[in-house]
Amino acid sequence: MSHQRTLERPVRCEGIGLHTGEKVAMTLYPAPANRGVIFRRADLPSAPTIEARPEHVVDTQYATTIAKNGASVKTIEHLMSALAGMGVDNVQVDLTGPEVPILDGSAAPFVELLRQAGLRRQFAPKTFLKVRQPITVEMGTRSLRIVPSQRLKVIYTMCFDHPVLGEQTVAMEVGRDRYAREVAPSRTYGFVRDLDMLSRLGLAKGGSLENAVVIGEDGVLNGPLRFPDELVRHKILDLLGDLYLLGKPLVGTIIAHGAGHQLHLQLVHRIQEHLEAEPEPFSLSAAAVEQWVSPLLPPSRPLKAAVI
Ligand SMILES: [Zn+2]
Repeated sequence: MSHQRTLERPVRCEGIGLHTGEKVAMTLYPAPANRGVIFRRADLPSAPTIEARPEHVVDTQYATTIAKNGASVKTIEHLMSALAGMGVDNVQVDLTGPEVPILDGSAAPFVELLRQAGLRRQFAPKTFLKVRQPITVEMGTRSLRIVPSQRLKVIYTMCFDHPVLGEQTVAMEVGRDRYAREVAPSRTYGFVRDLDMLSRLGLAKGGSLENAVVIGEDGVLNGPLRFPDELVRHKILDLLGDLYLLGKPLVGTIIAHGAGHQLHLQLVHRIQEHLEAEPEPFSLSAAAVEQWVSPLLPPSRPLKAAVI
């Protein structure tokens, strides 16, 4: 059996919000078992809390925003992705502003923060959501599908309407080590041609060449890229963060074509409907245990067959 995990000690960082441009300090605290990820607006009277759950998502335009009782937190997806990728089940996230700091635009600084915090194993068992039948959501030519498999795999395709970028696909089995090495460092991105529209929407006020890959008509303005296919890897980063709103690691193969936060959340809601319709525990695969257990320990050992 694997166990839930929280932080060993609190850790703190500071930065600005990508969309609000506001300065914010973020402190991650250990949390009790079965608590999940809870955001707390420490700057507001009575410091309201917002659980990172699908029912609290209020906006998916260019970022994932959650809100409850009038308090909101914007752009939670990169931190959520790092928590999912590194296997953190329970954590309280205190913020002194309305948005998670963007830092370098990737999840790598959050992974580093979690390494500094250290992880503590809790008594409660960790459970996994393993889909038993394919689930598909679509919007026009965009689609997102999850099919049963023994491990978490992602095949993500983006067709960029851009002369240099074209179509790109990344396929990977996402374990903890691979997440930290090949997904977390990929940065968010934006197109110069969208800047006017973003500014009219009041978004990307904190965006800069320091925290996003910026793409002009001739290509990337602030290269080099961290990976040739960094943009699609970042889509996987976002996807894993949005799926973690389900509160448990998901096991299945995900096939995405041109998806984004909106479709990610549609899939989350569909999975939740399936969970409510079929309340008995989802099966727990040995492969999944080996994949997600023991974060921050040396590379995984071969799994004992007895676990099955
Ligand atoms: Zn992102």
